[in-house]
Amino acid sequence: MITVQEHLSRIVETVQRLPPIDLDLLDAQGCVLAQDVTSEVALPGFRNSAMDGYAVHASDLLTASLTAPLTLPVVHDIPAGSTQALSLARGQSMRIMTGAPMPEGADAIVPVESTDGGLSTVTVSASVSVGQHVREAGEDVAPGDLIMGNGTRLEPRQIALLAAVGTGEVRVTPKPRVVVISTGDELIEPGTRPGFGQVVDSNGLMLVAAVRALDCVPFRVGCVRDEAQTFRATIQEQLLRADAVITTGGVSMGAYDTVKEVLSRVGTMRFDKVAMQPGMPQGFGVLGEDEIPVFTLPGNPVSAMVSFEVFVAPALRLMAGRSQDETAMVTAVAVDDWTAPAGKVQFARVVLSQAGSGHTVAIAGLQGSHALGSLAGANALAVIPADVTSVRAGDQVRCRPLGPILEAS
Ligand code: AMP
Ligand code: MG
Repeated sequence: MITVQEHLSRIVETVQRLPPIDLDLLDAQGCVLAQDVTSEVALPGFRNSAMDGYAVHASDLLTASLTAPLTLPVVHDIPAGSTQALSLARGQSMRIMTGAPMPEGADAIVPVESTDGGLSTVTVSASVSVGQHVREAGEDVAPGDLIMGNGTRLEPRQIALLAAVGTGEVRVTPKPRVVVISTGDELIEPGTRPGFGQVVDSNGLMLVAAVRALDCVPFRVGCVRDEAQTFRATIQEQLLRADAVITTGGVSMGAYDTVKEVLSRVGTMRFDKVAMQPGMPQGFGVLGEDEIPVFTLPGNPVSAMVSFEVFVAPALRLMAGRSQDETAMVTAVAVDDWTAPAGKVQFARVVLSQAGSGHTVAIAGLQGSHALGSLAGANALAVIPADVTSVRAGDQVRCRPLGPILEAS
């Protein structure tokens, strides 16, 4: 038996960040930058107006007020998109729209709200200070600024900045392509009602969804029979399009545990008992010329899900160049009693709730490794250390959130 940490260490020491590729900016959404990006341009690119109003010399309006308004001639109209080089003489104004270039010489904008909105002359009922409502060229980003570092995840906000400085393509770490293979003679395709002895391949869909939720690219291979030749052929074929492979089923001590039978002593595959509950039988290694990481997860649905969270997700984040901080743990106070196995880390399915400034945690029904009903009702895994054999109401428990945490009712 090895510890959870030993198995995880072996995985994270083996997998590597994927080699970078160049993608169109929008196709890179969700990817991580594999380069530093320096701006060649200024933002704003030119001095422009922050308001619809009138470009003026502030010194012309020093005494303007509601009771003593001042009137200026309006000598030009400047819409956004104007590329005309204009110059404003003292004692004059130009009507200007938000984002339009400031005329040379003007040093302030009078918002239209402080005027009568006139077209040939404008009457202004408030003074303005120098620089008011003016956006200076380069005040946001200067040419030569490092605007984004290697490792930055491209969310909508980052995509906007890259677009604004004229980026068309970016060098990123691609999203890992993950093949999901389910094994078992009892399995039938999702969307059909199982007959006696049959089980729907819920693992296949769960893992595809989990891969997708991590912003990686899943490929589902349907159900593969517990037959060595078929499984061997399937995995060989799938290695070609995968950055990682996940299998479920066939890794325990049964007579038809094909995955273990076929992959034992192949590549660097190793099958271990990991001191955890659920999820004890685990296999991991790299296969094929390209040394593709292969995770062989147990078939019990809850075991497969916990194994994905604990072992596969950290590896996929690493391959994608992402940080592991996305999985911050939450400490909560137990409101139930439950038992935990000696010598194994327990990943209990729990309901984590916000309660005042802290959190509470309740056990989420039946804890068997087959129990999908309680898994679906849970929003966290409580991680109970190997040397703890019981949790009592009032104990502090560390939890790994799986979804939104709601206010306790
Ligand atoms: P195994 O790991 O192959 O011994 O399977 C353990 C348990 O998980 C059995 O009850 C299987 O029917 C169930 N199981 C295996 N694969 C799947 C799957 N893809 N979807 C749902 N249940 C599964
Ligand atoms: Mg099986």
